[in-house]
Amino acid sequence: MHPSLFNQTPVELAAMLEGLGEPSYRGTQILEWLWQKRSTSIDEMSNLPVGLRDHLKESFSLRSLTHVRTQGSHDSTRKFLFRLQDGCHVECVLIPASPALYGERADRRTLCVSSQVGCAYGCKFCASGLDGFSRNLTADEIAGQVLLAEELSGEKVNNIVFMGMGEPLANLSQLLKALELITAPWGLGIGARRLTVSTAGLVPQIRKLADHPQQIRLAISLHGASDEVRDRIMPINRKWPLSELFKALRYWTKRKKQTITLEYILIDDVNADLAQATLLAQRAKSLHAKVNLIPYNTVEGLPWKRPDDPQCRAFRDALVKSGVPATLRLEKGHDIDAACGQLRLKEEKKIRTDVD
Ligand code: SF4
Repeated sequence: MHPSLFNQTPVELAAMLEGLGEPSYRGTQILEWLWQKRSTSIDEMSNLPVGLRDHLKESFSLRSLTHVRTQGSHDSTRKFLFRLQDGCHVECVLIPASPALYGERADRRTLCVSSQVGCAYGCKFCASGLDGFSRNLTADEIAGQVLLAEELSGEKVNNIVFMGMGEPLANLSQLLKALELITAPWGLGIGARRLTVSTAGLVPQIRKLADHPQQIRLAISLHGASDEVRDRIMPINRKWPLSELFKALRYWTKRKKQTITLEYILIDDVNADLAQATLLAQRAKSLHAKVNLIPYNTVEGLPWKRPDDPQCRAFRDALVKSGVPATLRLEKGHDIDAACGQLRLKEEKKIRTDVD
């Protein structure tokens, strides 16, 4: 299996071309064929000498993802399932703007991308962790989700959230490279402020990312406002409890001078009571953070339930009354297994059943 040419940065291409005795402007030509003209074959790269094209064909593949299935309709949330070269699957979700509900820009097209196949962190409510961890995605497999989603939908993605399958900060080196492919003018050209990295709370990596020069945004999968609740549903909290996590978040706000988003999935009988709302309000205020509340999406094989709508609203109202900006997201994509990891899980179970 060859590495993908899409995984090459200008610096890496320049080194390769120099080794081949080719002029450096060939690197610009190659990048243009890849990211602007969206080539699907090296033979199409007609301004490259035949010898160079042959070398590229022998050493590299092009697209590392192929489309397997789309769920959802054109005017709603769509979920794409992609197969990787080694037969693993990943998924990403394209979410249209809902200005009437959220006051978002009408032209916003958000893509939620995956950063790993499976996840090792085993949050108890999450489909991605159900089947364990397989491997990290490479940078081109991360950025390639954007390319393919744009081609399949015919729409330009202008907002990316790293909230799909996997823990992005556990794959930091490829994440940083993917950020380059996505933000570079020669790449996808999407502004760093339009990218949000979401983490379950990997404290050392949060500090490293805070020191990274790009103005990317940070969201925390919090889902519990006390260690007791978080320990119950997120094993990572035993390693980095809330006091450690919030120290790192204060470091982030000092470095980046940005608002952090606290993501909070409301799960019945776990974290949706008003005592948690009061604690969450205190924590959010200590960081000047905003809170996104998401009623739980049922996952087949897991026991958790979503609270009823009045309880969700009461939780949000308690935050707002305390002065914390909080949104209660109306569910999008409940009917298409939008919780991360569910579609991939079904596909891989099906493949296993077919093989057995
Ligand atoms: S919520 Fe995130 S960190 Fe936790 S298991 Fe799911 S993908 Fe992994």
